[in-house]
Amino acid sequence: MNPLVLPLNIGKDDTFRLTWKSKLYQAKAALVLPRKLTSKIDVDEVIEAALLVVKLTEFGGTLRAKMLSALAPNDSSQNNPTDVYGVVMRLNIRTGRVVEFDDLRRTKSEKGAEHADFMSASSEVLPLDGDEKEILKKAFNSALTSPVLEALRQPFASFAPELSESWKEMKLSGIQPDKLVPFQMLFPNAQPIERFVEGERFVLDDLYCTNPSCSCSDVTCVVLKFDPASGQEVAWGGFRWSSDTDKLKVFPQFSSKFNASEWFKQFDHSSAIDLKLLLRSRQTFMRTEFIAARKAARG
Ligand SMILES: [Zn+2]
Repeated sequence: MNPLVLPLNIGKDDTFRLTWKSKLYQAKAALVLPRKLTSKIDVDEVIEAALLVVKLTEFGGTLRAKMLSALAPNDSSQNNPTDVYGVVMRLNIRTGRVVEFDDLRRTKSEKGAEHADFMSASSEVLPLDGDEKEILKKAFNSALTSPVLEALRQPFASFAPELSESWKEMKLSGIQPDKLVPFQMLFPNAQPIERFVEGERFVLDDLYCTNPSCSCSDVTCVVLKFDPASGQEVAWGGFRWSSDTDKLKVFPQFSSKFNASEWFKQFDHSSAIDLKLLLRSRQTFMRTEFIAARKAARG
């Protein structure tokens, strides 16, 4: 199986800033999973040493070059190709500290940083001795502040609840026990469960029963699709999956055209974490951590 690349959803431009050797860089990171995660042990390994690929573009090479070319059509920025760095590193998601650097390379881009193939074989591999490593480590450790770490932690929060407590800042006492709670409501930075069919994106929203007096084992799954006409997400299908019996029940309103087991299989196929493992972990989280926190909030 090919490695899975998960872009981090950080802020609106999906980047963070990094200062390295007195220069300011724009950093764009993706989390790479060597394979699908199928056990808690797999998840723990990623938390302790996640593989990140980061593209660093010097700010001077983006903003200043654009400003110069806007001011002078025959500008000199074409003589100054932009330096783009590619970093392959491992990061401890729990502590937010760099574990190790695997690769550092530089590409000179003539056409602008956006077009740089920053991990290509033709790029210049830069050796990292002990001192250089320490300098780069410090740069990353300072740049990896809470919004970036939240984006890295939330996909794994149900497996290791101590990783992210931002959800506790919500007004939990207002969430009624008889209403289903979407996991994404508590963890908006968790990776969406999605699949693409003929270029169209479908997202699975998973909702949980958090009624302490109910013993059901159902996870409610709503399949959403983006409607280009209204610009809204619309429900495309829906089903319940029982974590006890492993049975699927289609919602009556979709029964004639919606094949729940096929959709479940396809969502599982494109999910970075085995879908049953993920939903079970989220259900346990909602039925323990969440219910306890809501109870505490109600006093
Ligand atoms: Zn229930």
